[in-house]
Amino acid sequence: MTKKVIDLRSDTVTRPSHAMLQAMMSAPVGDDILGDDPTIKEFEKFAAEMLGKDSAIFTTSGTQSNLMAIMAHCGRGDEYIVGQQAHCYKWEGGGAAVLGGIQPQPLDFEADGTLDLNKAKAAIKPYDDHHARTKLLCIENTHHGKALPMAYLQSVQDFCQAQKLASHLDGARAFNAAVHHGIAIRNIAQHFDTVSICLSKGLGAPVGSFLAGPATLIREARRWRKVLGGGMRQAGILAAAGLYALENNVQGLAQDHAHAAMLGQGLEALEEISVIGVWTNMVFIEINKGSVRELQQYLLDHGIAVLAGYHFGNKIRLVTHRDINTEEIKQVITHIKDFFQSSAKMVS
Ligand SMILES: *Cc1c(COP(=O)(O)O)cnc(C)c1O
Repeated sequence: MTKKVIDLRSDTVTRPSHAMLQAMMSAPVGDDILGDDPTIKEFEKFAAEMLGKDSAIFTTSGTQSNLMAIMAHCGRGDEYIVGQQAHCYKWEGGGAAVLGGIQPQPLDFEADGTLDLNKAKAAIKPYDDHHARTKLLCIENTHHGKALPMAYLQSVQDFCQAQKLASHLDGARAFNAAVHHGIAIRNIAQHFDTVSICLSKGLGAPVGSFLAGPATLIREARRWRKVLGGGMRQAGILAAAGLYALENNVQGLAQDHAHAAMLGQGLEALEEISVIGVWTNMVFIEINKGSVRELQQYLLDHGIAVLAGYHFGNKIRLVTHRDINTEEIKQVITHIKDFFQSSAKMVS
């Protein structure tokens, strides 16, 4: 058997547990496009109730649920206000523009992961033939691991009401925010019309996301899912994993956050490293000495995978998740320490 890699690249690498696989194997299924899959129905009912929304729809990915939401809120020639580094602007292939004829209006994020609502207000276009029609505000929570302040979510809701904008939460990791604040997910979801959640990140399902919101919007989103090729047949096998994740894997995120804090603390003690931030299950570091690439390769040689360079520039992102235990976190700290000691020896 090959040695297990301690994979800190993302929480998307989590594998289904034995118990989750059991739930998938015993799930009753049917043709969901014909409305026959009992496990999909159970999942969608459970997810909607958990978020305090009328309806929910199971989707193939977070990218798909975000796009379905934007297309349900906006039509051709409309626009959505969104963060410059937001997933549903920068990391989804321009889907809203490509497939929906919907223009993004990006704004810079503030340091805490929020969008400044004064800047958002200034970006709203007057109703005029020259402009796209501003319809929607998209917020991301968590953003790069940052759990947005709860008071901010309330101010977003008030703002959207006053400005007659719809609101969408890209809550791929919204459960991390809920666990961080020690609140139920519905307390976050209540501030937005639609919410998209990933099941295949820290929650540990192999595949799947969902979109929750008012019945009319989810009905519209369901049509777009079919158009986007996301209608699936005996998909209850996948929804069973999602249901298992929502029922069993939410509180475990607290352990991931504790591991990130532990990792951040351990690395802060090293003079060669600057810890940029520790936010929920993510640790961002910069190295003050040596090459990021060499560190990355050294770690890989010792069975540890991290994301470096790529869109993180000179930074390294370390993401904790349910497939990494406390012992492994300690090993990671030790190996990073060893890297600097061995490279110091090579220089002298
Ligand atoms: C992961 C992620 C998504 C969706 O990603 P998929 O890989 O399409 O499931 C959306 N938004 C954010 C913030 C994410 O981190």
